Amino acid sequence: MQIYKVGGAVRDRLLGRPVTEVDWVVVGASAEQMQALGYRPVGADFPVFLHPKTGEEYALARTERKSGRGYGGFTFYASPDVTLEDDLIRRDLTINAMAEDEQGRLVDPYNGQADLAARTLRHVSPAFAEDPLRVLRVARFAARYAHLGFSVADETLVLMRQLAESGELQALTPERCWKEISRALMEPRPDVFIQVLRDCGALAVLLPEVDTLFVSSQHERLFRVLRHCAEQAQPLPIRWACLLHVSAHGAVPSETGDRLRLIEAVNARYKVPRECQELALLVGEFQDQAQRAQELNAAALFELLQHFDIHRRPERFEQFIAACEMITLHEGPALSAQSAHLREAADAVRAVEVKTLIAQGYQGAELGEALKRERRKAVEHFAASRR
Ligand code: ATP
Repeated sequence: MQIYKVGGAVRDRLLGRPVTEVDWVVVGASAEQMQALGYRPVGADFPVFLHPKTGEEYALARTERKSGRGYGGFTFYASPDVTLEDDLIRRDLTINAMAEDEQGRLVDPYNGQADLAARTLRHVSPAFAEDPLRVLRVARFAARYAHLGFSVADETLVLMRQLAESGELQALTPERCWKEISRALMEPRPDVFIQVLRDCGALAVLLPEVDTLFVSSQHERLFRVLRHCAEQAQPLPIRWACLLHVSAHGAVPSETGDRLRLIEAVNARYKVPRECQELALLVGEFQDQAQRAQELNAAALFELLQHFDIHRRPERFEQFIAACEMITLHEGPALSAQSAHLREAADAVRAVEVKTLIAQGYQGAELGEALKRERRKAVEHFAASRR
């Protein structure tokens, strides 16, 4: 049996990028042999095993055949007579279809190295069009490597367009889509992810709210904001909130309620994790006010702060402020003053001490009332001091 390093580890080593995860392919072995050597199967009927010591994935060389719709619609064939070339040809991109033997020699039957040099994301074979997830994967790789000069080959874009038009994208589960979208947003050029999806027609299917921005060139604003997020190494909830805020503003500029419904719909479509959902809704609802925080009167400022659990969730309030800054920073420097104003108002609220009220004899519902009253006073005092 022969063991080869494959996929991302080979690609990233050749690119001179850090390798975080290594995948292996085993040729000429059976599942029984693997188990006899101590490898642990990851699933009952999938030919992938975990190394007894390193925990890395070792997959038996396999071929695949399409048997249904979507990402999971494959039957595979794994057996000791499947060759390395058979296994590599089922992979998505040529740069992901290279292997390295145990002596470190490159096996590159589909010219991945030439495509790496040419900075081209190219499909390996026409079977590319059998798995709609690849549309998202290619767009994600484009977002990751754009700054190195990579782009999608024209003929690959043609296949991506076919997939987008075939209706197969709808067969992807929300979880698979979210995994790709969220990873892509964290790449150095999240805007390129959106652009590639647009170029192949997949954006209209996956995120029609974002697609409509292109009609009025408002996508340019979104791209600036997303690039800004990446430059500032902002975390996922901030990037997600920015994406949805700018899209909602573009689609339904005048109505906060409609914008929130749009944000809720996208959150639900991809079963987005709670932290991202919440921040997107808060930004969607309150960004306009945060942008002019210094103009708000005490009542409005207090009302705004009431929506944030600033005592227990200070980090979420900071993320809200950061998202607002991402959305508006390129439009002028005045925002940092608005952010400072919000933070100081929150600090004034936080400075109200419960124990002082308890010492004054408040308890139960009365304590809650007194606390709210004192906090409101603290904001009034703060606002008056800023006049
Ligand atoms: P990353 O750095 O994002 O982990 P990776 O290339 O290692 O990149 P994985 O998702 O771990 O990506 O997949 C490992 C390898 O399996 C890929 O390099 C590719 O060869 C192959 N692969 C994964 N998913 C697909 C797919 N949907 N279609 C075809 N090949 C795939």
